[in-house]
Amino acid sequence: MMNNPLEDPVFFNGFNSIFIYGDYMETTGQVKTIIQRLLAGGYEAYLVGGSVRDMVLGRRPHDQDIITSASPGQVKKIFNKVIPVGEKHGTVAVVENKASFEVTSFNSLEQDLSRRDFTMNSLAMDINGKVYDYFGGVDDIKNKVIRTVGNPGERFKADPLRLMRAVRFAVDLGFSMHAETRASIIENCHLIKDTAAERVRDELCKILLSGSPGRCVRLLQECGLLRHIIPELAEFVGFEQWNRHHDKDVFEHTLAVLDNTPATLKVRMAALLHDVAKPVTFSLDEKNEGHFFNHNIVGEQMARVILNRLKFSNDTIAAVTSLVREHTSRYNQISTPGVKRLIRRIGAENLDDLFALQLADISGSAGPFDTGAVDRMRQEAASILAGREPLSVKDLAISGRDLINMGFPPGPKIGEIIKNLLELVLENPQLNTRKSLKNIVKENRSD
Ligand code: ATP
Ligand code: MG
Repeated sequence: MMNNPLEDPVFFNGFNSIFIYGDYMETTGQVKTIIQRLLAGGYEAYLVGGSVRDMVLGRRPHDQDIITSASPGQVKKIFNKVIPVGEKHGTVAVVENKASFEVTSFNSLEQDLSRRDFTMNSLAMDINGKVYDYFGGVDDIKNKVIRTVGNPGERFKADPLRLMRAVRFAVDLGFSMHAETRASIIENCHLIKDTAAERVRDELCKILLSGSPGRCVRLLQECGLLRHIIPELAEFVGFEQWNRHHDKDVFEHTLAVLDNTPATLKVRMAALLHDVAKPVTFSLDEKNEGHFFNHNIVGEQMARVILNRLKFSNDTIAAVTSLVREHTSRYNQISTPGVKRLIRRIGAENLDDLFALQLADISGSAGPFDTGAVDRMRQEAASILAGREPLSVKDLAISGRDLINMGFPPGPKIGEIIKNLLELVLENPQLNTRKSLKNIVKENRSD
């Protein structure tokens, strides 16, 4: 365990400072080597940002960034293996023992720290474990407060991604936002629209994969950010479902489902979007019961638009949109051929994600939490896959070429016959031999 450095602040001329002892050495072995070599070259060098924050918190840092007075050119001369990552911004990656560390050049330590987002992230630590704190970051960590370095409005305007970072840190660390910082986020929430989609996407992924995605999304909503990140979700809050299967509005249900999913991106993203079409498909019948006919199909299309806009990869878009489309499959009394069609549509590799989403959907709805349909589908799918039963036309024992050899003219008729054969084989896998399929074709030949 680390000492609690917060109990031991030391004041140096001009800045508040603390010492971090003990595990510092162990957690920063390679970083220490890099800093030592920079110091030996006559330069200043510090550990900086999130890793120092984490150590002050007594947490193990997960990535470690270094800043130095050496220029990128000078850094390259000191180390054997240096990769340019953002030389425009003065950043290179130094590779030590196969691990790589970002090293960024500064003009002055104070100026570098003044450009960082929050006081807790504007800390630097030297080789002896002394922390340099020009903006009150250590006190803010002690008081569990997120506060921008400098005027919040200016800082959020300069880089609106900080709006989302504030939300993520608040939930992740269990901190509150300083009143002015929070008010400024609410005032400037629309600025997130002007931020590069890739950056918003990456921050959204971090939020979804965090320990409390539901709380993060709730805070995004409370700060006004959510409707600018995914406007399609704006209607969720207070959207009542008028349905006995549901005890929450669409927003609360979505947060519950999100918190019930395993921490993988595709499932979490699908959880966020699975009911995206509920507001637009809502109808109330004569018994005052709410319905959302085809919300999975409309939702699939809406999810595709959203994920494209946020520049997600084709692979993620394909998987998430299928999950949204199929999340309702548990409602259908699905037969064995039905499960085969499901596997074919969604891909065997995505089945576990689908079942995880469905279970999360069930436990996020009103009880009784009947998982019977999902359990049956899972078992059925497992036995179909174990038995290597035919699932698609390419598994059929005969092909279009065989039909042409049997005298059928090339054309759409062939595709139709193949499709019909597949339907038969999905019902009766034992029919999938060349002989019996050829016989079936001959018997049904109408020309
Ligand atoms: P995490 O634990 O998520 O890695 P972090 O604070 O380390 O949190 P990084 O994205 O790794 O986040 O950034 C490292 C440091 O760079 C931050 O601590 C902060 O000092 C600075 N920083 C990152 N993003 C910004 C930004 N948008 N504006 C200003 N400073 C930033
Ligand atoms: Mg970091």
